[in-house]
Amino acid sequence: MQNGAVTSRILLIEDDSTIGEVLESSLRSHGHQITWERTGAAGLARATMAPVDLVLLDLGLPDLDGVEVCRQLRRAQPGCVLVMLTARAGEMDVVVGLEAGADDYLVKPIRLTELHARIRAHLRRNEGPSARSVPPIGDLVVDVPRRRVTVAGQELRLRPKEFDLLARLAAQPDVALSRETLMSDVWDEHWFGSTKTLDVHVAAVRRKIGEIAASTGARVPEIVTLRGHGYRLVLDAPDNGYGSS
Ligand code: CA
Repeated sequence: MQNGAVTSRILLIEDDSTIGEVLESSLRSHGHQITWERTGAAGLARATMAPVDLVLLDLGLPDLDGVEVCRQLRRAQPGCVLVMLTARAGEMDVVVGLEAGADDYLVKPIRLTELHARIRAHLRRNEGPSARSVPPIGDLVVDVPRRRVTVAGQELRLRPKEFDLLARLAAQPDVALSRETLMSDVWDEHWFGSTKTLDVHVAAVRRKIGEIAASTGARVPEIVTLRGHGYRLVLDAPDNGYGSS
């Protein structure tokens, strides 16, 4: 990792030449190393060759289904940030993509200022409110500098944004955090899209913590939903159902 300007390795998978050229030159002018592939197969092949920090994936590709490419990319590069580019703003498409492993999405036509703001937000690791170390909560340890989470000593495998979300919640346990605060701290200060992203990530973190708690009998906090407001991380919530089913 370098100091100063953030140079990241970005893989762009986009079949449209006009969009691809605009994105490539704009990202390059911001100092990123960019590799552009025009098919899903070429993008996947590239992703297995060398590590990347961020993938921009067009969902409408000529050869493969974008959601399937997303799933395979996530397997090939578990630690990278995966942003879908989609012409389909339909909520279902977005949720399917997020569940397939994407961290975020941008709807076409893509505004370059928004693209760069999002990339900055995604690559802003070890900075901001979630960067501080947090004390253990029950048997849950969020090691922010190392970006590791353990439950009773067992490692919990989280995707980058799942980690950021849990770290943000764990930074203020027992505090009600609004959806807007979580979206802005974990994703982007200028959030334009659906906050469905937040719910999908909360569900994934809940499920993963729940599974490891059930198998280890560990004492873990619960992400409590506050209707009409947001979420709160609580240890020993009265209706904590982990491990009881
Ligand atoms: Ca396309």
